[in-house]
Parts: sequence; structure tokens; C-alpha cells
Amino acid sequence: MLPFQGGFSVTEKTATQAAAVPSDHIMGVYNRTPLAFERGEGARLFTTDGEAYLDCMAGIAVNALGHANPKLVQAVKDQAEKLWHVSNIFTIPGQEKLAKVLTDLTFADEVFFTNSGTEAVECAIKTARKYHWARGNPERIDIIGFDGSFHGRTLAAVNASGNASYLEGFGPRMPGFIQVPYGDHEALKAAIGPTTAAIIIEPVQGEGGARALPDVCMRGLRELCDEHGILLILDEIQCGLGRTGKLFAHEWAGVTPDIMAVAKALGGGFPVGACLATAEAGAGMTVGSHGSTYGGNPLAMAVGLAAMEELGSEALLAHVRELAGYFHQQFTGLKDRFPDVVADIRGKGLLIGLKLHTPNRDFMQHARDQHLLVAGGGDNCVRLLPPLTLTLEEAREAVEKLEAACETARAKLAG
Ligand SMILES: *Cc1c(COP(=O)(O)O)cnc(C)c1O
Repeated sequence: MLPFQGGFSVTEKTATQAAAVPSDHIMGVYNRTPLAFERGEGARLFTTDGEAYLDCMAGIAVNALGHANPKLVQAVKDQAEKLWHVSNIFTIPGQEKLAKVLTDLTFADEVFFTNSGTEAVECAIKTARKYHWARGNPERIDIIGFDGSFHGRTLAAVNASGNASYLEGFGPRMPGFIQVPYGDHEALKAAIGPTTAAIIIEPVQGEGGARALPDVCMRGLRELCDEHGILLILDEIQCGLGRTGKLFAHEWAGVTPDIMAVAKALGGGFPVGACLATAEAGAGMTVGSHGSTYGGNPLAMAVGLAAMEELGSEALLAHVRELAGYFHQQFTGLKDRFPDVVADIRGKGLLIGLKLHTPNRDFMQHARDQHLLVAGGGDNCVRLLPPLTLTLEEAREAVEKLEAACETARAKLAG
């Protein structure tokens, strides 16, 4: 048993089952599980004493290409020996290359690189407001978002999502942010007015509980935006980059946004985010409008380029669709066999939500007891966000482990 900093052992059963581990020197904003990993390989994570876990959360949709992916490792090593960082006042060839890849594959004409998802959202919101300002409509500042959304933790992002628990205690709400119920077209129409700048939405809500927006709603959103001269911002930070079985989730609906925030899988674990925009939507963002010290540095771009080579591959997307079909079938069966535990199956592709009757935190522990890692989610869901490279064999194993977790949950409900 190897004790580590917090003064507990990762293998001790009692420690593993403790609800949270207080840390003396880390700001207490996370309810952490006392599990510490030292190594990963593909969809496996290994604790310091070599215990293996099947990772079906992938760092919340970040490690889409698995842990220690050889191509990403090589890209980091090669670039680390050459150049890590220069300022954005210089030309960064890696940035131009990655921006070309992203714009070639999408609706977008231009890209701003960030270090996180929330910064990509921040850039998206600023870009939308600046667009209207530059066109002589400075009053158009309102960003309409949706209940249950998540856009990150900057002040603008928490105001855009409107989640009360993320806003509490941080001063008055910022002006210019409105929320309506997810998928409620009439409420959305009613919220639109002369000061509306943009609508921001996740095509599949992640943290909110794996809720997928029907394609018809996505097309309706696009029409509404066009009708009123409003910009459509998609937050594809979690559902983008292959997770739904297409490179971006909005492709299922056959419409495109004006602005899109991307991150998570883009660096495969290295912090890289991006705000993509059409030339028109980005027109207000001129020299001096925005910036970032680290955003788009050579090291980040090298990893992003290597990741995009894989994420953009049709073979990987086909694999995601196949796995998604398998999971959907299996989980439907699981819901039939455990109607007392599983209330609903949601999501799209490999962003899967199991809405539960038992508390999701308990269920996550039951899964961990089976050495399976799943993420929590809103509306009492657990989310499966496995690496896109998960094998069918590993998918079968995940289903078996989930079934065992359901048995435990059922026994607890009965007892
Ligand atoms: C994770 C996430 C964010 C925030 O990304 P960070 O990198 O944590 O800032 C924003 N939007 C969505 C949909 C996300 O899943």
C-alpha cells in the first residue's frame, strides 16, 4: 500500500469508499474520489499499485484517443525538444496549420485558439457581441442560453448557462444573458427581441445530463437565427470532435452555426481550445479585440494537429457509430432488466447518459467497485464518455461491469 500526499492509501477499502478527501492545500471546489492514477494506456488507467480501471469517462471526453496515445506522445516529445512557446505577436506556423485543418473540415473561416473550453466560449460570446457592435447595433448584447446547459466557469460562461448553483455568491448576474427551457421553441421565440445578439446551445448537453437536441430543433434554431439576424453559437466542447459519430454533432441536422466553441478532445489531454467563426461572424474581432498569452502556442498546436489527424478519420467515426449502436442496444436491455435502477437512456453517440432511480453518486461508486469509471451528470445521470478508440471487447466489459453495478444498486434499494 502506497500512501500519498493526502495521508491515505489508495488501496485501502475504507479510503476508497470515503465520500471526499479533504486536502490541506487545494482549494476545496471539488468533491474528489480517493483514487489516484499514475499511468494510463488506451482505455485503461492504473493506480500506483497497478490496479487497472476501465476508463469510460476519459477525463470528461478529453482523452478521446485514449491514454498515452503513441502518436500524441510522439508529437509532444518532438515539439518539446524544439519550441514550447513564443508570443502571439509572432507568426506561429502550427497555428496556421491547425486552423487550416479545422476550417477545411467545418463551416468556419477563422479560428482563435485558447487553453480551455470556457475561454473558447468567452471568445464566442465576445465575437457575437462585437459583430453586432461593428454593424452599428451596439444594443444587441443578449445571449440566449438554455436550462441545464454548461459552458464553463468564467463569469460570462456561468451567466450564459444560468445554473443557479454556479452563480450563487459571485455578485449580481451580468446583464445580457437569458435562459429558456431546452428544446422549447415557443419560449425561445418569445425571448427573442431587438437586443438579441446570439443563441448559445450544446447540440448534446453534456454536464446537464446527456440530452440531445432533436435535429428538427437544431434546424428550427438556424431558421430563427436567420430570420432575426441572430448569430448561432454552438458549444461543441464536449459533443464535438467525433463523439457523436460525426466530426461535429450539428452535422447530424445538416445545418451550420456562425460560431463554435471546441476544446476537450482537441488536445487529447493537453489543454487546447478553439473558437471557430465564419468570416462574417468574426468580422468585428479586429487587432486588439481579444488575446491570450498561451493560446495556440507551438506545443499545443503540435498536439492538436496530431489529434486532428486521428479525430478527422472516417474510420474512427464509423467505429464510434458502431460502438454507439452496440451500447444503445445493450443499455436498452439493461433498462428492461433493471427498471428499478435505470430510468432512461439518453445522449448521442458515445456521449451516453443513464438516468437513474438511485443516487448517481452511489452508482458511480458501485461502478468503481467494479473498476469501471463513469462520470456524473445533471438530472441524476451517470455519463459514459469512453475514449472513441474503445474496442468492442472493452465495450462488452463495460456493459458487464455496469450490469454488476446495477445488481449492487438493486440490492441496496431492496435492503
Ligand atoms: C467542459 C465544457 C466546457 C468548459 O470547458 P473547460 O475546459 O472546463 O473550461 C464548456 N462547455 C461544455 C459543453 C463543456 O463540456
